[in-house]
Parts: sequence; structure tokens; C-alpha cells
Amino acid sequence: MVTKKKPKSTPKKVQTKTKANLKAKPKKSALRKTSVKKTTTKKKPNKRQTISNPSDFESFAKTFTPYSPNKTEKYMNKSQKKHFISILSAWKLALETEQEKTEQLIQKDQSNFPDSLDRAAKEEEFMLELRKRERERKLISKIEMSLKDIDDDLYGFCETCGIEIGIKRLEARPTATQCIDCKTVDEIKEKQQFG
Ligand SMILES: [Zn+2]
Repeated sequence: MVTKKKPKSTPKKVQTKTKANLKAKPKKSALRKTSVKKTTTKKKPNKRQTISNPSDFESFAKTFTPYSPNKTEKYMNKSQKKHFISILSAWKLALETEQEKTEQLIQKDQSNFPDSLDRAAKEEEFMLELRKRERERKLISKIEMSLKDIDDDLYGFCETCGIEIGIKRLEARPTATQCIDCKTVDEIKEKQQFG
């Protein structure tokens, strides 16, 4: 009876050994689970990327490749200036195109005000368009100031303390005229004044 039990137990041991050799198997299943999660989250940003609003620089920022400076190159040298001129010019052009569309909408709404019940909704829409036009105007004039600053060798340096604003911050906010520290201090001061 004892000898009969032994052969039964040995194939079981072999089975466990092969399982031990294939330790990668549970890892693979774990990878599958994470990859499924990744594909579901990837679908959402794809839909967002199709909506491009030039008034919002964050969406526009995806259209250019970030600058990668050499360790030895000087801050705001010719090639860095060129990089920001092209970003600012492209952004300005996109805003001007958008502004033309906004202007057309405003004129259409001005000449075609309905007397029906949806008048209030139309007025709300009209106000939003006027605000949009104002925001676009302000942004365009800010961009023009930044382009002038590049010409005057002032671009990229904090107007308050004179420190380098930095390429990364400028790429996130190309019209920035202050370093992050001075900007933060000013924002705190503003809050204290109004609060
Ligand atoms: Zn500063």
C-alpha cells in the first residue's frame, strides 16, 4: 500500500515544480489586468485632445515639442529665442483666427435677436461671446508684449527680481513676466487687499 502511494505523490511534486518554474505566469496575469486599466484610461484624453481652444494655452501647448537645451548653452540664446518666437507667433495666429469666429458670432447675434422665450438664453450666450472676445484681446496684447520683450532682450527674466523665469515655466506660460516666487507673492498680496 505504501509503495502504491509513492508514485501518486511524485507526479504531484512534478506538477508543483513546473508551476514553480513558471513563476512568470502570475505576473503575466497581473500585467494583463494593468494593461486593461491603461487602455480604458487612454480613451478619455484622446477625446479631450480633439477639442482645441486657443484661449486655453494648456490645450494649445500640445502642438509644439518642448525645448531641450544643452548643458553648456546660454539662457535665452538665439535658438531659445527662436523657439519662443515660434510658439508665441503660432499661438497669436490661432487666437486671431478664433477671434474672427467670435466676432462673426457676435455680429450674427446682434442682428438676429429672437422675440421668443429663448431670448434670455440667447442673451446669456451673447454675454459669453463678448467675454470671450475680451479674453482673446487681452491674450493677444500679452503675446505682442512678450514678442517685444524678446526683441528687447527682456524676455524670460522676472520683471520684479530679475531672475531667470526658466524654459519649463515659459513653455507652460509663454506670456509670464514673473518668476514663480514673485508671482506667488503678488497673488498673496492681491488676496490680502481684497480680503
Ligand atoms: Zn522674481
